[in-house]
Amino acid sequence: MPAGYDVVVVGAGIVGLAHAWMARRRGLSVLVIERTPAAQGASVRNFGMIWPIGQPAGKLHETAIRSRELWLELQQAGAVQLSTCGSIHLAHRDDEQAVLEEFCDQGSHNVSLLTAQQVLQQCPLANPAGLRCGMLSQTEMRVDPRQASRSIAEWLAEALQVDFEFGTMVCSVTDGTVQTTNGRRWQAQTVIVCGGSDLQTLFPEYLQQAGLKLCKLQMLAVPPQRNLSPESAHIASGLTLRHYQSFESCPGHQQLRARIASETPELDRYGIHVMASVMPDQRVILGDSHVYDHEITPFDSAQIDDLILRELRKIIRLEDWQVSERWHGIYAKHPQQPVVVTEVAPGIRLCTGTGGAGMTMSFGLADRLWNQWQGVAS
Ligand SMILES: Cc1cc2nc3c(=O)[nH]c(=O)nc-3n(C[C@H](O)[C@H](O)[C@H](O)COP(=O)(O)OP(=O)(O)OC[C@H]3O[C@@H](n4cnc5c(N)ncnc54)[C@H](O)[C@@H]3O)c2cc1C
Repeated sequence: MPAGYDVVVVGAGIVGLAHAWMARRRGLSVLVIERTPAAQGASVRNFGMIWPIGQPAGKLHETAIRSRELWLELQQAGAVQLSTCGSIHLAHRDDEQAVLEEFCDQGSHNVSLLTAQQVLQQCPLANPAGLRCGMLSQTEMRVDPRQASRSIAEWLAEALQVDFEFGTMVCSVTDGTVQTTNGRRWQAQTVIVCGGSDLQTLFPEYLQQAGLKLCKLQMLAVPPQRNLSPESAHIASGLTLRHYQSFESCPGHQQLRARIASETPELDRYGIHVMASVMPDQRVILGDSHVYDHEITPFDSAQIDDLILRELRKIIRLEDWQVSERWHGIYAKHPQQPVVVTEVAPGIRLCTGTGGAGMTMSFGLADRLWNQWQGVAS
């Protein structure tokens, strides 16, 4: 008879870890099965930005704030190191400044405008050339994504007795039995498949019809910058204002979008907006681009990297611009939903599609889902 658990989670990315934690918090026994020796998917390839500012007012922003509380809980428990660094959106053009002012006036998020001088006092990363103003938000936080997935898994194992099987690929889930390619089997009341961008191995018939899109992002890092504090606020640019849904409610948003499309169509072509995140060891993670579905290839484009660096040089200053690492990540995303959750059979659920907000949203989304599944009002 195979070993039994209340819950088996497939995938040890941030979504799988969030479900494992939320199930364990509710007193359930949990096993997580991950095909690689340590998580290597989108959850270790990102900026490590916990980014509530990108979520529109209402339920999504509330979920991001709930996630934020849960990240802080993890920090207090010693499961992760994080910085409550906040974020600054920089404006270098009139239309960017207009959108930031409109967003602040809406009062939906806890933000304030900074003069160019105030930005430069707070943030040595910001490039003073042409800087009009900035928008400060206190809610954003930073983790090192490469450490966070590992340390959260270790904490779940040691402090909460969640079991993990790394280097083990699940090949089928039927009638409460989870089977792996190395011939092992486990029984579970509930199986949650959190396979990230893998829409082909488990239940492809559901995942490929769920309206998910795959998106490839190119990223870079520069070596430790000794003049920067690991507590430096995340930096985003005017280009970012067209990327996150939260800014769409601003009257000047369309005009900004149209101006960027006509001046720099190459940025729209590759979905480029630019951001910078300072890691605990003072490396700076830089990005990014967005290329979808049939345009995704295994090969990274030097042209895209050059465009990202060209735009970043306009908004930030670094002591050392020599790129030390280049990589790409792929996530699954639904155009309208913050996550796709499908019950394919009693007790078997698929959960993926957090798009570019999985670090920000996963804990809050998982908490809400577990309340819903257990009939608790939230
Ligand atoms: C470049 C980049 C930058 C980003 N920046 C940010 C950011 O700063 N802030 C933010 O909020 N979000 C960001 N995101 C989005 C965020 O990283 C993703 O939404 C999130 O990591 C998705 O988590 P996941 O667990 O679904 O997927 P993954 O991290 O890909 O994990 C899925 C896991 O499932 C495993 N798996 C799959 N199939 C099987 C199987 N059959 N058996 C066993 N294991 C299996 C895989 O090996 C993998 O480890 C970024 C994403 C990328 C790519």
